[in-house]
Amino acid sequence: MLHAREVSQLRAGSSARTLSRADVRRVARAGARRGVVAGPAAPSYPGHALTRASSSSGVRDSVAATAAAADSPASYVDAPSSVEGRRVVIVGGGWAGFGAAKHLSEQGYDVTLLEASPNPGGLSSGWRTASGKTVEAGMKGFWYQYKNTFKLIKDLQLPSWPLTDFTTSGFWNPKGLVTEAPVFSKLPQLPTLIGQFVHTAPLYWALPLEDRLTMLPFLATLADYVSSEEAFEKYDKMSAYELFRKCGVSTRCYNEFLRPTLLVGLFAPPEDLSAAAVLETLYFYALAHQNDFDVCWPRGAIAELIFQPMVERIRAAGGRVQGSRLVTGLTTDPVTGEVVSVEAADRSTGETYSYPADALVFAVGITGMQKLVAATPALAQKADFRAIMELRALDVIATRVWFDRRVSTRYPANVLSGFEATAGATFFNLNDLQDEYRDAPGSVISADFYHANALLPLSDEAIVQRVVEHVAKCEPGFKGAKVVDSIVLRYPKAVTHFSPGSYPYRPFQATSIPNTFMAGDWVKGVPHGANGLSQERAYVTGLVAANLVMQRLGGGGQQAEILDVDPDEPHIAAARTAARSARQFADALGIRSPFL
Ligand SMILES: Cc1cc2nc3c(=O)[nH]c(=O)nc-3n(C[C@H](O)[C@H](O)[C@H](O)COP(=O)(O)OP(=O)(O)OC[C@H]3O[C@@H](n4cnc5c(N)ncnc54)[C@H](O)[C@@H]3O)c2cc1C
Repeated sequence: MLHAREVSQLRAGSSARTLSRADVRRVARAGARRGVVAGPAAPSYPGHALTRASSSSGVRDSVAATAAAADSPASYVDAPSSVEGRRVVIVGGGWAGFGAAKHLSEQGYDVTLLEASPNPGGLSSGWRTASGKTVEAGMKGFWYQYKNTFKLIKDLQLPSWPLTDFTTSGFWNPKGLVTEAPVFSKLPQLPTLIGQFVHTAPLYWALPLEDRLTMLPFLATLADYVSSEEAFEKYDKMSAYELFRKCGVSTRCYNEFLRPTLLVGLFAPPEDLSAAAVLETLYFYALAHQNDFDVCWPRGAIAELIFQPMVERIRAAGGRVQGSRLVTGLTTDPVTGEVVSVEAADRSTGETYSYPADALVFAVGITGMQKLVAATPALAQKADFRAIMELRALDVIATRVWFDRRVSTRYPANVLSGFEATAGATFFNLNDLQDEYRDAPGSVISADFYHANALLPLSDEAIVQRVVEHVAKCEPGFKGAKVVDSIVLRYPKAVTHFSPGSYPYRPFQATSIPNTFMAGDWVKGVPHGANGLSQERAYVTGLVAANLVMQRLGGGGQQAEILDVDPDEPHIAAARTAARSARQFADALGIRSPFL
């Protein structure tokens, strides 16, 4: 936080309520000297994980900040302000922050995006090691219904489409293959649920049909959970485990299919997940339409393929993208309660800066926001911001392993079940998915661990060893292969945890501070079907935040268009209407709903 005197000097220096761009001040080292840089502590930011990244060759790879990383301080301190009263500060450089920044800068708003890490992308960030290899914060899939993301990619007019075709995936347990996911969009289209059942029936399934059929009563709850806000909140209070039990899902189906799927889909075991969040996610990713489970992958680092072009777009439109800027606090106007400036520290020099703001978007994730609330009295006195302290975030480990020889794998994407006692895991064959590794002499595997709290204390070597053992269990060809390089990235408390009962504490996008808005995969009330841990959802919330800023500041420009998911198929819509009627009827008679 800025010292009060510095704040008042800044205010006194401005002729109007809003300060011009020329008033962005570097408070050179003042914060560091006085020890007032009291923002979020280091270890939770993806950027900090970079410092823990090491290669198995024993050489610590320096993090090569991409060209996108940072403008030099001089480039913004003296930049002229073009539009008075339309300065927007966006905190957080993931999908949500970039969604807001790109749209607002293209509509003529004076945008500054501040990101704590030197690299853009947040949980989708990536960079090159000193030896020029790309590494990423884990592998990210793009699902069939990520319409807004696909539209963004088209709009960026990239030299080539940055994503693969939809791929098949394998599901494994330590005994072998459990089942596989086909590419549904290449198969004849059938009504949803019937399509998925018919097209997976001929595939290999280690799970007997009678176990799979025990999921049917659970599927009926899908029609009910969105029947009303009240129904949704009831499902949110119970864990997915309780719901599966209540619906009679078999133990085997739970242990071998549902639990591992949720560990990699929502990064937590069903006993620690909100049943409502699970229903939403399964509905969106697997059940609403036959093709919903189809997924494709980036053909290289998302940061290079998608975020770097976004940085260039924002800059071309006059906006600023500042890396290594840790936002530490904000100042509000005592009369209006509005935010007037945002304070940030340069993490490489310790210098502090104050950015005048007419509107503010927080797009920082749960842990980052909790640190800001704890450090900022103006936020701590607001009930909606304090509620965020009730939320939780999850640990993830991302690895990349280079082998001395090529080993082909049956599937490019693989979900591992029961390989770790408490963590979920996946591995991806990058030779099959990413251009850079297509002709590499040796195999390159990206493997991620979710809900990885019990693995975080292990050494990098021990984690890589586990990856090698797991991959070799599925693909025995890896047994004789030697690891020639590897990287392990740790992301403690970095990912949204949709825990039971968390819904009331998640923020809406508009906040109690009139010119401050929230974005990110964890905000609620977003009128879009994408749910759960999703780049699409994060991006859409950024667009919605941009629209809210435009409504607040006025001054023209086009609202961001948000493409909705495909409507429910008629039989699903009818089932929902029936569930809603059943619930209303039961409520009117004072009897319990047939579901909950
Ligand atoms: C291993 C892994 C696999 C995943 N797989 C998929 C997948 O297959 N498909 C999919 O769609 N999604 C996937 N996700 C989820 C997806 O990555 C996230 O939902 C999405 O990236 C969240 O974006 P966001 O903008 O909301 O937040 P984030 O990406 O978390 O961005 C928040 C940013 O805010 C910054 N920040 C925090 N505090 C401050 C501060 N005080 N000052 C300045 N900056 C700050 C952080 O450094 C961070 O860059 C995966 C995530 C992980 C970790």
